[in-house]
Amino acid sequence: PPPQDGPADDLLERRTGAYAPLQGHYYVDPPQIERGWREHLIDTSGRHYVDMVNNVTVLGHGHPEVAAVAADQWRRLNTNSRFHYAAVAELSERLLATVPDELDTVLLVNSGSEAVDLALRLTRAFSGREDVLCVTESYHGWTVASDAVSTSTSDNPRADQTRPGWVHAVELPNAYRGTHRGPGAGEAYARDAVAEIERLAAAGTPVGTWIVEPRNGNAGAIGLADGFLPRVYEAVRAGGGVCISDEVQVGYGRQGEWFWGYEEHGVVPDVITVAKAMGNGHPLGAVITRSDIAQALADQGTFFSSAGGSTLSSRIGTTVLDVLQRDGLQEHARIVGEHLRRELERLAERHPLIGAVHGRGLYLGVELVRDRETLEPAGEETAALCDRMLQLGVVVQPTGDRQNILKVKPPMCLSRDSADFFVARLDEALSG
Ligand code: PMP
Repeated sequence: PPPQDGPADDLLERRTGAYAPLQGHYYVDPPQIERGWREHLIDTSGRHYVDMVNNVTVLGHGHPEVAAVAADQWRRLNTNSRFHYAAVAELSERLLATVPDELDTVLLVNSGSEAVDLALRLTRAFSGREDVLCVTESYHGWTVASDAVSTSTSDNPRADQTRPGWVHAVELPNAYRGTHRGPGAGEAYARDAVAEIERLAAAGTPVGTWIVEPRNGNAGAIGLADGFLPRVYEAVRAGGGVCISDEVQVGYGRQGEWFWGYEEHGVVPDVITVAKAMGNGHPLGAVITRSDIAQALADQGTFFSSAGGSTLSSRIGTTVLDVLQRDGLQEHARIVGEHLRRELERLAERHPLIGAVHGRGLYLGVELVRDRETLEPAGEETAALCDRMLQLGVVVQPTGDRQNILKVKPPMCLSRDSADFFVARLDEALSG
């Protein structure tokens, strides 16, 4: 039998005692979650919540096909990719079928942080340059290198002061509340970024790597202002650098219209990082790149990850892609996401606290402001709203450096009824 939980009131204390406090938990007084099914979470008292935050579990919680494949493969064989088996080739080929032909090589790892870390090793080996350019308000992972290029002050309040010398940041091209706003903002941000690329080259520290999410997840589903990304790709490449698209958060069909976020911008990256959705919760990540870039790292030595690309992980990865594609979840995310966005915009007509609805498909951000002119962030109101939403049966959390955006990134199987339930509860919470 599984280990028995202690009395609920004692369990939180045991957690705080035994599990490093660095690893916080949602809510001051959290429900004890015991089960999940599709986009629903169920606590030990039997209460249901609609889960609007689990972007990892794309197919939904407790997915029977993923569970069946995992159980089957555990019994047959689970070993590492230095052995020869079909699953690793099959998953790699399936991933390559989703990207343009010039991206022809896959490396399998266990998480987004590992994917970003490995991507940085690849681009540094290929470009022969150490310096990396990224944008503000971003999160790319917890390993030493992925943390170094993470600029978000919500995860690390001292990110600006602790950044190593090889990391440089330009402003997130946010056309809603950044330095440049409205139409033409993208070109203005691009001009600033190009100036920084030129300055770094002149200073003898030319950019070897450009890393950005094609839509900033951590900042609250903030799109990169129109025209920004192609111009920056061009300048980075003209200077001998290469471009990483971090798709850990917004890729894999979640945005509805595009399977990969970079497609929105009409660019093709040199390196893609992906994780979260790939394993539906099983630890799985990948780097997708060109063979000449992979070769540059191969020239320096071998790469091996004990569990990355294991028989088990590869079969789960293939099954997740099978179900995602067979069930049309990308199209589903587009349709339900558009409906949800429209309903949230209608809510904004009645609730002035909603300043903007960002995002596409089932990756949305509801930005709360005290004043639509000054855009004063409503951080405390956002926190209070999340607590109230929990009471009303919805799990939703704040995000961003100002903690004033509700991040809406549910399992991609979210039903229209659950989307409507979320909007109705938000309406109630905003009214109360
Ligand atoms: N990149 C992005 C854009 C992310 O959002 C995250 C995780 N939130 C990571 C990388 C790191 O992924 P992981 O937590 O799987 O290490």
